[in-house]
Amino acid sequence: MKKILSFLVIILLGISSQSDAQSKCYVYLTFDDSPLNGSENINDIILKEKIKISVFMVGEHVIKDKQMDTYAKYYEEDPYIDEYNHSFTHANNHYEAFYNDVQKSVKDILYNQSLLKLPYKIVRLPGRNMWRLNGKSKNDVSNGIQTADQLAKLGYKVMGWDVEWQHRDSDGTPIQSVDEMYKAVQNLCNSGNTFTKNNVVMLIHDEMFQKPWEESELKQLIDLLRAKPNYVFEQMKFYPQ
Ligand SMILES: [Zn+2]
Repeated sequence: MKKILSFLVIILLGISSQSDAQSKCYVYLTFDDSPLNGSENINDIILKEKIKISVFMVGEHVIKDKQMDTYAKYYEEDPYIDEYNHSFTHANNHYEAFYNDVQKSVKDILYNQSLLKLPYKIVRLPGRNMWRLNGKSKNDVSNGIQTADQLAKLGYKVMGWDVEWQHRDSDGTPIQSVDEMYKAVQNLCNSGNTFTKNNVVMLIHDEMFQKPWEESELKQLIDLLRAKPNYVFEQMKFYPQ
């Protein structure tokens, strides 16, 4: 009987260590269009929670008023927040025209890079989920392909996302529930149905910070993920190259 028991224990230990090794998954919390309303809370929360995040900055928002400029400076000093390029004008939200003029769109992004003195050549195209990384590429639509290609030629890593946590424009409340998002991350980690296996890039918007942190859905999601040691939060500069 003892022998059978120890045999079973060995098998169970073997199974659990195997699944631990297999299930390590890197989660990238990325915020677009920063700084915006809601940004004022990000810095405090991130410092308190010590979670690594990535923000894709729009230069026009930074220079719009003094308050926004202050948020950008907070980010720079916060070791948990990394800043990346999301263009200067955000295409003025007219994406077709922006990408039809390839040179103009590239110039806009290069200008943002120098204006904000961004340290990494990592860009997310406004309004497009496109990837250019290490010879691998992915496009959501065709308009914008040439801009992405040109940026890749200039040494930029073009980064899209695997899953978006959408919100209502009216009040910033999330459309998918915390549970839905948690399951989505789990599924993406397990299925390998991401740009890079075992790496999940989540797109989130600053509006998610409008609620007090303790009541916010984002905190609930982060707490759920943090309870499982196989999920690791990382910044985009550490994304596998
Ligand atoms: Zn954007």
